[in-house]
Amino acid sequence: MSANSSPEGAPVWHSLEVNKALDLLDSNADSGLTPQEVEQRLQKYGTNELEETGGRSAWEILLDQFKNIMLLMLIAVALISGGLDFLSWQSGQLKPGEVPFKDTIAILAIVILNGILGYVQESRAEKALAALKKLSSPNVRVIRDRKLLDVAGKDIVPGDVILLEAGVQIAADGRLIEQSNLQIRESALTGEAEAVNKQAVLTLPEETSLGDRLNLVFQGTEVVQGRAKVLVTNTGMTTELGKIAALLQSVESEPTPLQQRMTQLGNVLVTGSLILVAIVIVGGVIAARGFSNLQELVEVSLSMAVAVVPEGLPAVITVTLALGTQRMVKRNALIRKLPAVETLGSVTTICSDKTGTLTQNKMVVQSVYTNNSSFRVTGEGYAPTGDFQLNGQNVSVDQHPEIPALLVACAVCNDSVLQQEKGQWTILGDPTEGALVTLAGKAGIEKDQWSSKLPRVAEFPFSSERKRMSVITQVEEVSTGVSPMTAVDPAIAHMLNQERYLMFTKGSPELILARCTQIYLGDKSAALTDAQRKQILAENDNMASKGLRVLGFAYKPLTEVPPENSDETSEQQLIWLGLVGMLDAPRPEVRAAVQECRDAGIRPVMITGDHQLTARAIATDLGIAKEGDRVLIGQELQRMSDQELEQNVDLVSIYARVAPEHKLRIVQALQRRGRFVAMTGDGVNDAPALKQADIGIAMGITGTDVSKEASDMVLLDDNFATIVAATKEGRVVYTNIRRFIKYILGSNIGEVLTIAASPLLGLGGVPLTPLQILWMNLVTDGLPALALAVEPPEPDVMQRPPFSPRESIFARGLGSYMIRIGIIFAIISIALMWWAYNHTNAPGYQGDREAWKTMVFTTLCIAQMGHAIAIRSNNRLTIEMNPFSNIFVLGAVVVTTILQLMLVYVPPLRAFFGTHYLNLQELGVCIGFSALMFVWIEAEKIFFRLMGKKTV
Ligand code: ATP
Repeated sequence: MSANSSPEGAPVWHSLEVNKALDLLDSNADSGLTPQEVEQRLQKYGTNELEETGGRSAWEILLDQFKNIMLLMLIAVALISGGLDFLSWQSGQLKPGEVPFKDTIAILAIVILNGILGYVQESRAEKALAALKKLSSPNVRVIRDRKLLDVAGKDIVPGDVILLEAGVQIAADGRLIEQSNLQIRESALTGEAEAVNKQAVLTLPEETSLGDRLNLVFQGTEVVQGRAKVLVTNTGMTTELGKIAALLQSVESEPTPLQQRMTQLGNVLVTGSLILVAIVIVGGVIAARGFSNLQELVEVSLSMAVAVVPEGLPAVITVTLALGTQRMVKRNALIRKLPAVETLGSVTTICSDKTGTLTQNKMVVQSVYTNNSSFRVTGEGYAPTGDFQLNGQNVSVDQHPEIPALLVACAVCNDSVLQQEKGQWTILGDPTEGALVTLAGKAGIEKDQWSSKLPRVAEFPFSSERKRMSVITQVEEVSTGVSPMTAVDPAIAHMLNQERYLMFTKGSPELILARCTQIYLGDKSAALTDAQRKQILAENDNMASKGLRVLGFAYKPLTEVPPENSDETSEQQLIWLGLVGMLDAPRPEVRAAVQECRDAGIRPVMITGDHQLTARAIATDLGIAKEGDRVLIGQELQRMSDQELEQNVDLVSIYARVAPEHKLRIVQALQRRGRFVAMTGDGVNDAPALKQADIGIAMGITGTDVSKEASDMVLLDDNFATIVAATKEGRVVYTNIRRFIKYILGSNIGEVLTIAASPLLGLGGVPLTPLQILWMNLVTDGLPALALAVEPPEPDVMQRPPFSPRESIFARGLGSYMIRIGIIFAIISIALMWWAYNHTNAPGYQGDREAWKTMVFTTLCIAQMGHAIAIRSNNRLTIEMNPFSNIFVLGAVVVTTILQLMLVYVPPLRAFFGTHYLNLQELGVCIGFSALMFVWIEAEKIFFRLMGKKTV
């Protein structure tokens, strides 16, 4: 074992200097690896992925299916029914041709089938969620072959040089090459919530513990602040996280509120049915004054127990939620937490960022204001071509020497990269900064050139709280004897005297101006007068009220590099350079989406870090701000108590110049007012607000990894209109869930009542066997219910107010519908049963005397077909609807009817299901009675319409 290597021979990275580490990995801090090297290393080390070790194993998922109380009850029914068969078989009471244990075997088969079905669905759902998570997994910014690239995290190899900035979740373990104000939250690894300051210059003793390795960064941890360049040392399962991968990789598939309520409903139904069974048995024994009819009573009870349980429901709900998620992804809304699918429809307030969500985030500088003159800038997109105009005339910037100084600040105090790809100018990085590089380029001031002329030696990075950033540059070293002053470019020649460093600062104009004491006039700087301040602020307001995003610029000559974290003291006594105003046009589709929100009773609210006038101009343009709506500024909000904020929160539709921590207070205030809030966010500090919101929404394109991790949903296109589209899908999903619950449970109630009625009417014998009931609940109810799950939206889905997510599943008439329709269903089938019993027991009847039971069975099934067709709409009559708009319902009805007829007319199936042959007249009567169900529901719709009542 050599020094600086672990017992396994791997280097101990934290004990090595950067250059040694770079040598060991045969890499270069400036140029990175070449594509060939990356390819070779991918072969050697494999991809940077963690093996999935968490989550439930296949067996666990399968076993979980049988923990369901309803399935347990079915197993009990199967065993009791098996016991009864055994007794009859032993005592030789089996009818000729009757197969013993048929019900038991069939019920057990269906229990197993149901278990397997549940298993397949759940494991598919887990896989789908895992895949969705991968879709949102972060890209990494890497230097390869001297170029800056964004690559998928899995393609990172040891030796890669990667760049980190605030909000990034680190993709691999690495050794810091350089850093600036770097703070990292390592809670994922060490459990320590406090962020850690990291330093590249350190070399640490070998025995340093994980939490103290301050020159290393680790996979899965998060950059809270600052930036860094990192040499990747370990990837995949060899990272520190990889060693404990089981902790992180498990995919959360928490049950949704609805699934939880369904489990509760299951418990209620099982308990209810057991009570019913007890009543029937005790009542029957008392009525018969003995146990003579015990076997029949037990059979009736078993059938009732099976009938009351909606065996198909859990499967239908899972499928519906899964389909909802898929439809949302197609509309660019990626669901990260399943409950969001069903609760999205309940959103009452959408709090949205401005930049990128309501606007296009394609910035073009339109105005520049320096020293009393306002210049218009022409040109489109990020192409660095265009003119500077003063009073409508093109001007040369050299005639206005304060402009080149401002443009140098634009180019140097900047982290974005302007690229030309296939003739198209694009940017890598923040569009605000991209627009500034473009602006400078229009006057021939190129970022690359100036970055080497004025190399960056330190910086105070941008954050949404600070609303500004500074870059400290070193004025080029020149050969001895020549003073730096004369060697520098004329563009900055007058900006400094003997100082060796120049700090450039840009940010929110009010903030920057407040830190300035002088103004740059092109050839000198002078004290900044109050009149000048007023004028600058007036021009700022003027630009902002046109909807422009305005940034202020300043600089300061320095004799030495300021220490880290000294921003508050260093960014003082600055020299003002000017204002730059850029246009970020609203997204064209947002206006319609805002209107749709309003129609749907959802209030859109803009929350932005930008200036109040810029915010108001854009919010008014988009229809977000209405007459009388208030604009609240971050500073005012800061002064308000929580109670005051709560009193005002329903009146404010624009929050401007806010910091991320204000977002949390806004969500909380809205929630205390009973609102159900969706909130967007992209920065690392937005995470608490995203977690607090009922639906936290992260930006797919501009969002930081940390914000995505905290969110329920990711907008793949960053677009506000997508939130509205997803909300609509949420409403459709919930409406459809309610629809098939009505459909399934209404039928269950009908079945139970019909079965209970048979001994009461003294008909003798159980009309439906457990097997037939299972068939109905799973197949003839299950298939149409699945088809109802994909029912397209009703036309008025976005023209009604949202419903509370906390309302009971039985609210808004669902409970009464179930009971009402259950009773109607029972009345129809009991009437049919009465007729059929008398018909088949009439003297001289030629057919099978038990055929009345099959008539009841058939009627119950076929009546549900009419129910399925009629329930497609709550208020519209079937003839008012396009029968082909949900082809699945038509298909399910046809297939199910054919299957049901096969049970009656195909002899082996008949024998197995214990049905009896029906002649044409009998079948006709069944269909006639069944049709009454459809007629009744349609008549109800007409009745409610005449009463002016609308069901939703
Ligand atoms: P939204 O919250 O709607 O996305 P925003 O983009 O204005 O709005 P932030 O990104 O937090 O919000 O920016 C807040 C303010 O900070 C901006 O209005 C601007 O004045 C300033 N700012 C934005 N980007 C930069 C930057 N790269 N450098 C310096 N200052 C910036």
